[in-house]
Amino acid sequence: MSRKIEFADLKAQYRAYKTEIDEKVLNIMSSAQFIMGKEVSDLEDNLSKYTGSKKAISLSSGTDALLVPLMALNIGAGDEVITTPFTFIATAEVIAMLGAKPVFVDIDETTYNIDTKKISEKITNKTKAIMPVSLYGQIADMDEINEIAGDKIAVIEDACQSFGADYKGKKSCNLSLVGCTSFFPSKPLGCYGDGGAIFTNDEELAFKMESIRNHGQIKRYCHKYIGINGRLDAMQAAVLNVKMKYFDDEIKKRIEIGNRYTSLIKDNNINVITPNVLDDRNSVYAQYSIRVKDRDKVASSLNEKGIPTAVHYPIPLHLQECYSYLGEKEGSYPVAEKVAKEIMSLPMSAFLNNDDMDYIVDNLKEIVK
Ligand SMILES: *Cc1c(COP(=O)(O)O)cnc(C)c1O
Repeated sequence: MSRKIEFADLKAQYRAYKTEIDEKVLNIMSSAQFIMGKEVSDLEDNLSKYTGSKKAISLSSGTDALLVPLMALNIGAGDEVITTPFTFIATAEVIAMLGAKPVFVDIDETTYNIDTKKISEKITNKTKAIMPVSLYGQIADMDEINEIAGDKIAVIEDACQSFGADYKGKKSCNLSLVGCTSFFPSKPLGCYGDGGAIFTNDEELAFKMESIRNHGQIKRYCHKYIGINGRLDAMQAAVLNVKMKYFDDEIKKRIEIGNRYTSLIKDNNINVITPNVLDDRNSVYAQYSIRVKDRDKVASSLNEKGIPTAVHYPIPLHLQECYSYLGEKEGSYPVAEKVAKEIMSLPMSAFLNNDDMDYIVDNLKEIVK
């Protein structure tokens, strides 16, 4: 029997919540309240309650959610922002877009998050912010990073993959000056298009970011700041308000599924490196990523068996053509480069059933001798 497994089973998720989602989305169409309004403000309340942050501001995407705090902090030409080279392009993109310089720090070889031991040596008098990424759903070392940053350097968590994750009893997005997440469909909490949010406990900064999100407006047609159109659609907010009700259940399932993958792989002595989740935090497994030798061969053999895989991410950012002006060479960030060659993500969602998971692991065992 040949199978076709979904990489992230958004179709099964829609079937589970269809009645509620359809009703809410249709209501928006008949009410014609497409921009802002009650669904958006309800969502922001739900989000701020969920994370414990004083303010949650919804945004049109995770990328805009990363951009707006940098704008609000007046980061631009001549400034430096420290981040990881092993992330999705958007993290560095927003820094460069504002004319600031992305300064990379290599990653830790077991968590794939920024290596806090290597941050201090990259701090200069131009450093305005540190943007750690909580990769694959496991939160970066936020306490250490906040301490290294002190009061002069802003810490902005790129939590686009870690919404819902815990760190020492607190939620991702509420662990530093600003946290940013994405509601891209395949993220742990996804909408039906693009979406994102910013979180902070700093009310003054929240006011400015909220204004920048909406063309820098403070009163209708009265513009205090240069802003963007970064609003989240009411329809996306409506979808998210439904999904928020089931989010904790989904997170629980994702964690069970991730842990089950790891124990099956270990029990079967399959020669791959499984995710290392530290004791004081969890992972919401935005991706379940393993490291394998001969990654591309293993991936294509799995694909032939109806098992989709993905690589997050094959080229570290310092080796991307668009950042060649930074003058970084192969060998600058050896850990990121090594991991990029071996990393591979397996199918993951709260709707992945045990039977499909067994099939995936059996095939992996067969292929990785
Ligand atoms: C998805 C993602 C983003 C960008 O989010 P979008 O909603 O796609 O704009 C930024 N950073 C990381 C780490 C991501 O995974």
